[in-house]
Amino acid sequence: MPTSRFILNGNGSATNRIARQINRNLIFNQIRAKQPISRAELARTSGLQRSTVSLIVEGLLTDRWVVEGSTGEIPRGRKPTFLNVNGQRGVLALDIHPANVMLAVTDLGGKIISLDSVELPPDPQNVIGTILSSTKKMLRSHPDRTFEGIGINLPGRFDPHLAKSIFAPNVDWPIGQLKARVERATGLPVVVDNVANACALSEVWFGYSDRMHDLVVVNVSEGIGAGIFANGHLLRGDAGVAGEFGHVQLDPNGVRCGCGGRGCWETIASNRAGLRYYSEIAKKPVPSFDALIQLAKGGDAAAKQALTMMCKALGRGMHMIALALAPSEIVVVGDITNAWDLAGAEIEAEMRRFALVRAPSIRAAREGNQARLRSAVALIMNSKTL
Ligand SMILES: [Zn+2]
Repeated sequence: MPTSRFILNGNGSATNRIARQINRNLIFNQIRAKQPISRAELARTSGLQRSTVSLIVEGLLTDRWVVEGSTGEIPRGRKPTFLNVNGQRGVLALDIHPANVMLAVTDLGGKIISLDSVELPPDPQNVIGTILSSTKKMLRSHPDRTFEGIGINLPGRFDPHLAKSIFAPNVDWPIGQLKARVERATGLPVVVDNVANACALSEVWFGYSDRMHDLVVVNVSEGIGAGIFANGHLLRGDAGVAGEFGHVQLDPNGVRCGCGGRGCWETIASNRAGLRYYSEIAKKPVPSFDALIQLAKGGDAAAKQALTMMCKALGRGMHMIALALAPSEIVVVGDITNAWDLAGAEIEAEMRRFALVRAPSIRAAREGNQARLRSAVALIMNSKTL
């Protein structure tokens, strides 16, 4: 299980193991962010003992996650050897949307080396075949790189034990078969998870949120899903389906939802809702959510109003999450973060319009629209630390 490193079971040895993993994660993140960097500098920036840092670095060198590079120049004494993330190794990240898949080759630190987007065919029978052929093509175009594995984000909830989808109202193909089919086709380890869960894990893995605080990632795209990091681990719930706030009914008279319900949060606050609001106001459609954002940024009144309606609906859902889970922060992932200067304050104001015991901070994911791909990298890297 990709998230077991976060489960604290009270057993002393397990707790020590987790402490070691946290330190290793900390050091790897420092190397990723500050490379080239010496061991002495790592000890200074991490606050860990020099001997602890050396031990962790030896492990990272053995696993070939990092390599020793140039030698530093200092006036006197032993010259330090600088450390870098191993540029020869990589991860293939797949971010699957209902209508397309984004593929990225990244280094082990999640830096994107190359990127591709492939439309998925309308016939559900052909979707997995298209994903397999584009995956193999991407791997073939990087013959010099050794891949750690393939991380896959899914727009649905997936039970890894039963290898089937439990809840994926926005897709009509057998999402649960994907892991085994990609493994067979590539021979590489594959880790799949719901996109919101992966993004919550990524926030912790890449060190943007310290693991001591509770956080909720809200992924706003064609639908809405939440990944919940609480009490030091990812909260999955029975059968792995926790976090489906997107299907809580907020408007009993609202439009039909892919889940069979009516007026679910995602029907009033997702990208699809934003596009629908625009069509209703402007009496004409807009081709994509990105186009809607560009119109709003250009001052188009209908586009701005459509985004405002979407943000108010988002804020109402954030209020529900704040009361239910009391996270210290809510991190938003998705295209709406490209318009955060317009959207962020509106979402937060709407959340705060209702009574709150504690108000979490709301922020956009640090990598903006690359956050989803980064989180697929986190799935693989986290699974390698077990
Ligand atoms: Zn629904």
